[in-house]
Amino acid sequence: MVGVFIYRRPDIRFIIKNTWEMLGEESDFHEIPIDEKDLQSVSIGSVKDDQADIVYNNSLVLVNKDHPISEGIVPNIVDYKDTDVKMDESVADAYGELSEAVKSQVGKNLYIMDSYRSEEEQESLYSEDKNTATTPGSSEHEIGLALDVYVKFFAGEGFIKSEAGQFVYENCWKYGFIVRYPPFKKRITGMKFEPWHIRYVGLPHSEIIYKKGLTLEEYIQSLEIGKFYKSGEYIISRQKGEEFLFPNNVKKIVISPDNMGNYIITGR
Ligand SMILES: [Zn+2]
Repeated sequence: MVGVFIYRRPDIRFIIKNTWEMLGEESDFHEIPIDEKDLQSVSIGSVKDDQADIVYNNSLVLVNKDHPISEGIVPNIVDYKDTDVKMDESVADAYGELSEAVKSQVGKNLYIMDSYRSEEEQESLYSEDKNTATTPGSSEHEIGLALDVYVKFFAGEGFIKSEAGQFVYENCWKYGFIVRYPPFKKRITGMKFEPWHIRYVGLPHSEIIYKKGLTLEEYIQSLEIGKFYKSGEYIISRQKGEEFLFPNNVKKIVISPDNMGNYIITGR
């Protein structure tokens, strides 16, 4: 009976096939030793004051019921292209590329059902529906990093039944996004599978999370404070304090708080 059920549900078949294939995916993410003399020191203050040539954003902020949005975390909300769809500035270009890829490879227009929500909007959503809406202060929509996407005729849970939904599931990492609440991970995320809810974390984090089959919770936890990691041409480090150390020869640095008192620094 179970076999027949799975066979008749192409979306479930897709998820099982994808999960199986991902077991064989290689990610070259690994820890690397770095000599102290090759490190430079930068203060968070100078980064926030725009003195250093470093991008500061919230791309790796972990938000869930146990980690509500801290006071210092303020989104930088912009309008997406010529629309009134609001999202964090760090997401806009990446979303543009993802939606273009869906258009060119699947031939469908990707639409946004929901993007940035103010705390008041999250509050009213929560008071309407306490079962599915997240408590105010603990939704990624409130920092503008999450987008709920759909294509015509396929929204919500049905999104994964569409070719576009399956394309997004398998390819959104290339544009810096993750499907934030993947299947079989409710124990960790506290949320059932939401194929429509994508979250921007940026590369190479999206690639590591997807290829290693992790959640954002598990990934951030896997980054030990003060250590350095390499993935492709990227260097990643999670550090505590107001000063951070990073290799001298690394450019294009992006720094984000993790919402747990640390910063995650990415460069290449
Ligand atoms: Zn959502």
